[in-house]
Parts: sequence; C-alpha cells; structure tokens
Amino acid sequence: MTDIKVPAGVGWTAFTTARGRAQESLRADRLFDDRLAGVFLEEAIAAQARDGAEGLIVRPVHGEGISRLADIFSYYFMIRTPFYDERVVHAVRAGCGQVVLLGAGLDSRAFRLGLPAGVTVFEVDQGPVLEFKDAVLAKHDAVPTGRRVPVVADLRAGWPEALAAAGFDRAAPAIWVAEGLLPYLPAADCDRLLDTTAGMSAAGSRFTSEYFVRPPVESDAVDDSSSARDRATWRSVLDMLGTGPAAASPAAWLSAHGWVAGQVSSVTGEGQARGRPAPEAFARPGGMEVWLFDATSS
Ligand code: SAM
Repeated sequence: MTDIKVPAGVGWTAFTTARGRAQESLRADRLFDDRLAGVFLEEAIAAQARDGAEGLIVRPVHGEGISRLADIFSYYFMIRTPFYDERVVHAVRAGCGQVVLLGAGLDSRAFRLGLPAGVTVFEVDQGPVLEFKDAVLAKHDAVPTGRRVPVVADLRAGWPEALAAAGFDRAAPAIWVAEGLLPYLPAADCDRLLDTTAGMSAAGSRFTSEYFVRPPVESDAVDDSSSARDRATWRSVLDMLGTGPAAASPAAWLSAHGWVAGQVSSVTGEGQARGRPAPEAFARPGGMEVWLFDATSS
C-alpha cells in the first residue's frame, strides 16, 4: 500500500478547507455533503500521529473547541463551496465536458456532484498533495462519477503543457475553477493565469474564482485571547499568501485578461443569501471580505 504522507507548506492549506467542508457535512441543515473531506482529515491526522508531525497540524473536526480563527475558516470554506458547486453543475449542463480544478487540493467534486461519465475532471496541484489524495482515495476505494485526471504541476509555470499532456482539449469548452488559489499567488502569476486560461478556452468556457478584497492581516483572525496554536497557524497562513490579484474589483480585472465578467458576489453576500450570517470577523465594518465571481470566454 502507498504510504500516506501529509504535505507541508502551502499544500497543508488544503486540509483547512477540507476541515470546513467536513464540519458542514455533519450539520443537519448542511449546504452540501462532502463525506470524503472527513476521510481525508482522519487519514491525515493518523499519518501525522504516526510520523510525529511538527509545525502545521491537521486538526480534527471535533474536540478543538471554538475559536475566532476556527469560526473564520469554517464560515469562509462552508460558504464558498456551494457557490462553486453550482457553477460546475451549471457549466456541465451547458456543455462543458472538462472541469479543471486549479489548486485542486482535496476537492471531491469528481465524486460528489454526480457528474456524468463523459465529463473529465482535471485536478491540478503539487505532487505531494495529489500523492496524499490518490493514496487515500485508493485506500477507501473511492470511485469518481466522471473521469478524474490528477495533473502534477506548478501553477506559476509549465502547467499548460502538463494539462495538455494529461489530455486537456483546447477545442472543447471547459470550466476553470480556481478555488482558494489566487491569494497564494503573486499578482503577476494571477494575471498570467487568467490570460493563459482565456487563451486555452474554447467558446462556451467559464472561469470561477475568488480573492480577498484587501490583504488579510494578523488582527483579522487572532487577538490576545487566541491560543498560541491559533496565532501560529494564522501567522503561517499569512506567510504563505502571495498578493493575489492587484485589482480593486474582479469585473475590470477579468475583462483586462480575456474574460467576460459574470456574477460578482462575496462571501458575506453568499452567506446572507444562504441564511448563514457572517461571524464578527467578516461582518464588522472593514473586516475580512472575499470576492467570489465567475466569467465566460469572450
Ligand atoms: N481548491 C481546494 C479547496 O478549495 O479545498 C484547495 C485550496 S488550498 C487553500 C490551496 C491549494 O492550492 C493547495 O492544495 C495548494 O497545494 C495549491 N497550490 C498553491 N500554490 C500552488 C502552485 N504554485 N502550484 C500548484 N498548486 C498550488
């Protein structure tokens, strides 16, 4: 059996988002059901216990108590998930036979959205993330509904070639999903990602993503009452962040890089619309906010 190892560095952030989805999936009034998220967490926690992990620890869904940081993470990842789910489902119904998850992490849409067998889901991420994911999926005999194609690549350079080698067809429409990715990239790489995806997109293609309205800072998520672990975790996340797009709003940015802006929403706006009001860190004036948006090929 393949050894299950938890990725370090930015790959570790995939566990924070999976944890938010696992927590939401346990609620009676859940907005979605991501059972694999809990499986990934359990396997990661077992691997870290076995290997004696230092530094960034994968936290269980239960037993950690409530904290400001935990509230922020849970809310953000719980709210954005259905926004992307709906876009993928609608795009596939409209004829996109390719779903490209840029920075796929532990995304389980290939398994849980009931995508038709003819749809290919390309999952682009770093080697250690996809190795962990593949090992856990194999161990649990998880079977995607469509065709799942992992693509190991660095999304700052060289990934279009890797995607083409994996079978991506530029002549056929695709939906590009960059969920939780852009904030980790420098602005120039974000611009290039938009230009490149636009250039690789057949008519009818779509793009959907997100970025922070302003750069997050330490006081957004921790304060003097926060645990040392929460403070260290948030510091690590802040240190991993790039600048994200250097654009004040998504619509102008998208149109400057080959895409036609569609819906521009926000995490708090989506939360209101779904009956889940934001916690204090998002709701207070000047607090954290994240654009969520989609676009179509021009
Ligand atoms: N999209 C997933 C989700 O929402 O659960 C994962 C989001 S996680 C916050 C960010 C992901 O982007 C990680 O899996 C990380 O490995 C990946 N990532 C960040 N920078 C990358 C790069 N330069 N090349 C490839 N993957 C990258």
